[in-house]
Amino acid sequence: MQQLVAGIHHFQQHVQPGQRELFANLARGQNPLALFVTCSDSRIVPNLITNTEPGDLFLLRNVGNLVPAYHPLHADTSSAAAVEFAVAVLKVPAIVVCGHSNCGAIQALLHPEKLDGFPSVSGWLKNAEATRRVVQEKYGHLSDEQRVNVAVQENVLAQLENLRTHPAVAAALARDRLALYGWVYKFETCEVFTYNPNVEQFVAVNGDEAPSLATRYGARAIQSI
Ligand SMILES: [Zn+2]
Repeated sequence: MQQLVAGIHHFQQHVQPGQRELFANLARGQNPLALFVTCSDSRIVPNLITNTEPGDLFLLRNVGNLVPAYHPLHADTSSAAAVEFAVAVLKVPAIVVCGHSNCGAIQALLHPEKLDGFPSVSGWLKNAEATRRVVQEKYGHLSDEQRVNVAVQENVLAQLENLRTHPAVAAALARDRLALYGWVYKFETCEVFTYNPNVEQFVAVNGDEAPSLATRYGARAIQSI
C-alpha cells in the first residue's frame, strides 16, 4: 500500500498544467468515446493501450470481460446497469469488448475442475458457458494453448451477442447510433486485434478502422492470433 500512497503524492505534485485544465473540465460532466468492457486483469490498462485521457472511456471490468445476457428478473444488475447508463444516458457511440491473451478466467473456464473451492469464480464463469461449449464443439482438435487463444476470441464474440439482448443496446443499434467492436489485446506484444466480420477473423489493428459488427455473424472458425 505504501507504493500506492506514494504514487498519489507523486501524481498530485507532478500533474502538468494542461492536465489540470483537463481535470477541471471533467467536473462539468463526461462524454466518453466508448463503453470499454474488459477483464479485471491488472496487465490491461485501457487508457494506456488506446492512448486516451480521463473521461474518454466508460469502463466495465470484471473477471473474463463478461456481459451476461439481459434478463428482466435476475439479470446481473452490475453489468446491466453499466451498459444501460453508458448507452441510454451517456449515449456512447461505441462499445468495445476487449479480451486479452493468457486470460486466467478463460483458462479456468476450459478447466472447471480447477475451480473446486472457488464457488464465486465458478458461479460467475457460468455466464460464459456458451463460450466453453463452442470451444468444446469446434476446437477440440487444438492444443490446450491454442484452445485458450481461440476461446478468448470466441468469448469476445459471445459477449457482443449478449450485449444485443440489452434493451438499450438493441434500441441504439436499431437507430444506428451505436457500433459494436470486438478486440483482443495481446499484452506480450502490445498488439490489439479487432474482429473483422468480412473475413470472420480477428485481424491486427493497423491504423485503419475495422468495420463494426453491424450484422450478426454466421458460422466461423477462429484462427489463433
Ligand atoms: Zn482475463
